[in-house]
Amino acid sequence: MSQASTTRDEEKRLAALADLWLLDTPPESRFDLIVRLAATQFRTPVAFVNLVGRERLYSKSAFGFQPVNIARTESICAHAILQDDVFVVHDTLADERFRNLPLVKEGPKARFYAGAPLISHSGQRLGALCVIDNRPHERFSHRKRALLRDMAALVVEKFYLRRNELLNATVKQFANSTELACISVDAQARIEFINHSALGLFDCGLDDIVGRDLVTILPERAEPAALLAAGLASNSAHSKTFETVARKLDGRTFPAEISLSAWHGERGPAIGAIVRDISERQARDRSLVDLANRDPLTGLSNRRHFGALLDRALADDKGATVVLIDLDEFKEVNDILGHATGDELLQAFAARIPLFLPQGAVMARFGSDEFAILLPGLRDPLRAHAVADAVLKALDSPLNIGGHLLHIGASLGYAVMPGHGETAEEIIANADFALYRAKQAGGRTARIFQPEMRSESVSRRATQDELVRALRENELVLHYQPQVSLETGEICGMEALLRWQHPTRGLLYPDAFIAALETSPLASPVGWWVLDEVCRQLATWRQEGFQLVKAGVNLFPVQFRENTLVQSVVQRLYRYDLPPSLLELEVTEKIALSNDDQALTAMRSLQRLGVQIAFDDFGTGYASLSSLQRFPLNTLKIDRSFVRDMLTNAHDAAITRAVISMASDLGLETVAEGIELAEQAELLRKLGCKSGQGYMYGKPMPAEHLAKLLVRKAATHQAVVFSDRMHMGLH
Ligand code: C2E
Ligand code: MG
Ligand code: MG
Repeated sequence: MSQASTTRDEEKRLAALADLWLLDTPPESRFDLIVRLAATQFRTPVAFVNLVGRERLYSKSAFGFQPVNIARTESICAHAILQDDVFVVHDTLADERFRNLPLVKEGPKARFYAGAPLISHSGQRLGALCVIDNRPHERFSHRKRALLRDMAALVVEKFYLRRNELLNATVKQFANSTELACISVDAQARIEFINHSALGLFDCGLDDIVGRDLVTILPERAEPAALLAAGLASNSAHSKTFETVARKLDGRTFPAEISLSAWHGERGPAIGAIVRDISERQARDRSLVDLANRDPLTGLSNRRHFGALLDRALADDKGATVVLIDLDEFKEVNDILGHATGDELLQAFAARIPLFLPQGAVMARFGSDEFAILLPGLRDPLRAHAVADAVLKALDSPLNIGGHLLHIGASLGYAVMPGHGETAEEIIANADFALYRAKQAGGRTARIFQPEMRSESVSRRATQDELVRALRENELVLHYQPQVSLETGEICGMEALLRWQHPTRGLLYPDAFIAALETSPLASPVGWWVLDEVCRQLATWRQEGFQLVKAGVNLFPVQFRENTLVQSVVQRLYRYDLPPSLLELEVTEKIALSNDDQALTAMRSLQRLGVQIAFDDFGTGYASLSSLQRFPLNTLKIDRSFVRDMLTNAHDAAITRAVISMASDLGLETVAEGIELAEQAELLRKLGCKSGQGYMYGKPMPAEHLAKLLVRKAATHQAVVFSDRMHMGLH
């Protein structure tokens, strides 16, 4: 390529061609009118709009000859673009630069050439508009030059228009092929443009909607000034998004999300909106909220949701009642019948209870077997009690769980606002104190919150903390209460009873700490410590030469749940080398009636080994002799409430008589508890009771005191016989 035919800034020139989407493009009819006009105006047979690429010259339009695509070096236009003004070659044959060019010798046989450079807005020479004749022209007037220059300028304008048209077409194709529904409106919020997706979304044709107010489809938010402000405030780079209701042309509405953007167009401000139908998303959100608020097993509200509802009820200031429910035997159901049945039970419970609740009540499951009921607006304790009662009554008939008829009980605690707390947490916590009381009372009952429950609970917790220390510092001690034969007055056994030698409060009895202990994790270590201590004591006495009698040890329910019962007992008998018959395990109703097969098997094994088993406090609970038949027993301990009243209450005496005779029919020993008077002992003996225990024979006492009542093997076989005098001497 000759030096003369390249511009100074060739790369910028080519970039300008590319920017206008003209580089190496084919001819286009849109320029035909101009070349024809040029040819007629200048009376030449041929005219071209030619562009000069890096190597080639190519026509965008040609008149009187076919469009060319020739080497740049073989063109005259390549020279024309180096000029500031129109380039004229009057006779090509007279110019040796052109004389031998193919286009001169062949083709259009160009003798005359006049070309005006096509100059871009940025000053780059893109090509030339040229007219060509096959004969030489002597002159090309100034007027003609000016005309050709103007026509060239028109061609350049057309380049720019063409690019905009192409760009618009691209944008439109893009807009119509996207799934997004796009609408643009003018400053008066009249719809100017709407793409295919938007037509689909609003269920209409182009003619139905272009030119109409945006209000037609966005009834709530189409106030133009506000839209514009919102759109422009979003600075168009980040569109502003909001949710609203959109309306199809037939009037149906749907929830929509609108993303607005705004710009200043040539005709003033304009707004673009992308519209999304968010019905599905809202439905999904709703079900997520639902999921977050529901207990999956029962479909009831969960604790979180319950808290939120309670907050709302409190904000209403109309009062509310919170009832907490805990199933009484749920753990047993789970253990014995399996977790699947447990789950079914919870579901059945959750389905039944709401039927018994007043309108507006909300039931929730807090977890495991804990449920709660919110009664918004219920502020009357009597009515609250009636609801709690209704829940208890609802459980009168059994639940049918996979063929099992389950009679489940529940404990309820409730708190009533105003009065029982300010915040949701406080009210729930207070209802929980009441629930604890209901549990303590043996279940199947409801309790209302009372302020002192709070302080009791605090002291219970304090006691539990203190018990940790007590166990560590050996503050727990055992006292032993003698049991005597009612026939002979001889000592025939003893019961180990726990005491707490408190450093500041003195000697504490079980009623001060046993409830706290039983509900703490310490119950198990303390329980096993008692057993160990009793065995150790028996071994010590044996070593000291005393004739041993059986010792009763009270068990905590938790010791049965650990499934190491047999092992734990056998280990200690073995360690201290004691015959099993010296040990009498005392169980209460909680244990014996729990229907826990595991506990039952363990007790049977122990009994087979020779360990004695006594049923404690008979007559205070639900247990009847027949209900105890499944449970392995050797001894029945008649509760001291019977003994206390039998002298004055003929009914109690009759029951005691019946119990004793039935027990002996079943081969059970009977021990009467709480004998304080000789008359009681005498009556019991007459009724057939074999042995007794009570203050009359001796209060629970330290081991060294009890030792005095034991018989030394070495001594003569004289038995220690209790008399009133001796009793007085001991205390
Ligand atoms: P329990 O097993 O029924 O023990 C008998 C309770 O009756 C003892 O109360 C005893 O002091 C009391 N008592 C005995 N004779 C008379 C009497 O003539 N008149 C009166 N009014 N009371 C008499 P204590 O020692 O206060 O024990 C209360 C309960 O604490 C026991 O009842 C037992 O359930 C529990 N307990 C005591 N020690 C232990 C233990 O080491 N482990 C377990 N698991 N529980 C224990
Ligand atoms: Mg006992
Ligand atoms: Mg007892």
